[in-house]
Amino acid sequence: MTDQSNPGQLIDRFGRTVDYLRISITDRCDFRCVYCMAEEMAFLPRAQILTLEEIYTLAKAFAELGVKKIRVTGGEPLVRKGALSLLENIGRIESLNELVITTNGSQLETMAASLKAAGVKRINISLDTLDADNFKAITRTGDLRQVLRGIHTAISVGFERIKINAVILKDRNHKEVNDLVQFAVDHRIDISFIEEMPLGIVSRHDRSEAYYSSAMIKSDLARNFSLVATPEKTGGPSNYFNVVGTETRVGFISPHSENFCGTCNRVRLTVEGRLLLCLGNEHSVDLKRVLRANPGNMAILKQAIVDAMLIKPEKHEFNIHEQAVILRYMNMTGG
Ligand code: SAM
Ligand code: SF4
Repeated sequence: MTDQSNPGQLIDRFGRTVDYLRISITDRCDFRCVYCMAEEMAFLPRAQILTLEEIYTLAKAFAELGVKKIRVTGGEPLVRKGALSLLENIGRIESLNELVITTNGSQLETMAASLKAAGVKRINISLDTLDADNFKAITRTGDLRQVLRGIHTAISVGFERIKINAVILKDRNHKEVNDLVQFAVDHRIDISFIEEMPLGIVSRHDRSEAYYSSAMIKSDLARNFSLVATPEKTGGPSNYFNVVGTETRVGFISPHSENFCGTCNRVRLTVEGRLLLCLGNEHSVDLKRVLRANPGNMAILKQAIVDAMLIKPEKHEFNIHEQAVILRYMNMTGG
């Protein structure tokens, strides 16, 4: 049950405390990664997406309800005009412990220093390959050199515990897992490998054929590295391993092979203001409607969020062998 005796906390029917919110601040992106988007994407009209002020109000409401960590993501969060001032405002919410972002790295060369000044604590950067041609093939529009410059800038302005996110697909980039870990080791940063999730319909590959499990990646890495399990958690679904003799940790996000729902502590706010209770289910509450119907009424908004905990599902329903049942793409969702 939602704990009514403690209005400062969000607790679902399964006793899980929700203290982590991911916000997709735009569905737009300068890349079109093959696992995330279709080649031709229709993006939402402006009136349908939350304004920056609305996003801030929601962030504040969640923080007042005990959320300690907010991840700003997208789409590509750094292509939304005003992203920096939004981050500054969220960064000033006192009760938050951590404001973090996930980015494709394309804007970091020019924005990393301002992000640090805005109070962003950590950055996850997507990088699936170190081969420029393969990078172009996977992202359809991206430039590897620009992203690498962005990563170097983020390191040089002093971001700590930068993490690379790599979605591994069989026959696209699975042979590069050792090179990617070596890159992380050389740069003293972390890396997480992600199993592809069936969100939205993609055309460039069959998701069940492209499935490459965390176990297969681990066995490939064992050829070059010695990995030792660590109990460390960063508030996410990754299982972490230390790369012996280095400062790097390797994480595995394995929605298919190792269900992580039992310890789920998060919810997601889509760019349309839909509070999504689970990445792999459609249970949601339209907070934009609540917000716009009751301007300035924080109490009603917070009650809607508290009530939403009652419909948080126990676990995701991903099945890699079926055509996507979840038609929502990751860029809408706030991955
Ligand atoms: N544009 C930013 C980026 O690429 O980092 C932030 C948004 S992106 C949707 C967030 C993360 O979701 C990225 O690390 C991306 O690789 C991952 N992602 C996108 N589609 C995915 C899918 N179908 N399965 C698993 N991960 C996915
Ligand atoms: Fe854009 Fe990120 Fe999706 Fe790639 S994964 S298309 S960079 S939102």
